[in-house]
Amino acid sequence: MSKQAVTILGSTGSIGKSTLDVLARHPERFELFALAAHSNVDEMVRQVEQFSPRRVVMSDVAAASRLAKILKEKGGSALVESGQSAMENIASDAQTEIVMAAIVGAAGLAPSLAAAKSGKRLLLANKEALVVGGSLFMAAVKAGGATLLPIDSEHSAVFQSLPEDPTTWLQRVEKIILTASGGPFRTRDPSTLASVTPEQAVAHPNWSMGRKISVDSATMMNKALEVIEAHYLFGLPPERIEVVIHPQSIIHSMVQYHDRSVVAQLGTPDMRVPIAYGLSWPKRMASGAQALDFSTLTAMSFEKPDPARFPGLFLAWDALRAPEGTCAVLNAANEIAVAAFLDRQIRFDQIHQVNTETLARYAPSKPQTVADLLAIDAQARQCAAGILKGLSC
Ligand code: NAD
Ligand code: MG
Repeated sequence: MSKQAVTILGSTGSIGKSTLDVLARHPERFELFALAAHSNVDEMVRQVEQFSPRRVVMSDVAAASRLAKILKEKGGSALVESGQSAMENIASDAQTEIVMAAIVGAAGLAPSLAAAKSGKRLLLANKEALVVGGSLFMAAVKAGGATLLPIDSEHSAVFQSLPEDPTTWLQRVEKIILTASGGPFRTRDPSTLASVTPEQAVAHPNWSMGRKISVDSATMMNKALEVIEAHYLFGLPPERIEVVIHPQSIIHSMVQYHDRSVVAQLGTPDMRVPIAYGLSWPKRMASGAQALDFSTLTAMSFEKPDPARFPGLFLAWDALRAPEGTCAVLNAANEIAVAAFLDRQIRFDQIHQVNTETLARYAPSKPQTVADLLAIDAQARQCAAGILKGLSC
């Protein structure tokens, strides 16, 4: 069997490293074509030395030249590049069959789309790309003949619980139930959320993840983005997508059928499981994850999300019911707000304020092209940045 070549976009992040961990367990099946990241040169040097990719792209120009210098001194042969077209090129090159989209934020949209348009097996962790891209993203997947497989644990769980034939999903499924851990502030008095620090917000009880998604989990904006993601991936209307808090993160999500039978996917909280599933689908292969030990599992509990504590979650259904383009506005506002919170410019509770005010002030016209989407994203960022400064836009 010839090896399948893989490109990882966002290789120095949490999902990127977990993907490399899974690939390293199957050297007979996979080889690395390319790695891409923003600016973490030290980690990239380690990855290049261990996995010998043919090409490396750093979006930060200075990081790319520093990396090139270090690799040259070490006698390496990988081609080091920078820039948007190089990033898109390694995602669409004929020499790669599988692309892991694990860049954080809308920055991952263009290379993910490049992979979709060129018919790759596209493993999508970068939920923001689909939230922004919406139906244009799904149309690109279809037109390019790509195989889009979800890596987000909830969507992988749903995908594993759905019938094989996607044309039956809308008719046979009553609803999708996404589980959420509730994050670090599930039981905290909502009136004290204003004093939360970035350190507290990124300390997730069950999952170890990048900083942005960790803050999104604390506000439950992550689940809002996942509701939007589920809508586009599985084609169900917003009212047939539900969220339930399940603090133990054992059930990763569920599908309820019309006969009221519920099919769920369970496992330890370890992203290597959905990653290995995406890489090996429709088969399965070892992921390195621990097995669930049911004899020590004392409880699985469920709660309804509290709108006073997690107002951001409920923006998902509003945004999906609004004209298309609104989800891109919500995502852009949230990226700006989370970065400002991590930078200690705004309080934790002001993230929601920035998001709702941006949505109230900027109603985009329906995007017809990817260029329209990028313009909406840019405009919404400007609007959110203005709100941060206390300015109107
Ligand atoms: P992270 O912050 O740990 O890593 C982000 C990666 O993206 C890094 O390699 C960084 O260098 C790269 N990057 C950032 N901006 C870039 C740019 N402009 N160009 C190129 N590369 C860039 O984030 P993460 O936790 O690995 O999450 C990545 C994506 O996967 C996010 O969309 C997140 O929502 C999603 N996701 C993550 C998890 C998880 O467990 N970490 C679970 C589900 C979904
Ligand atoms: Mg998730």
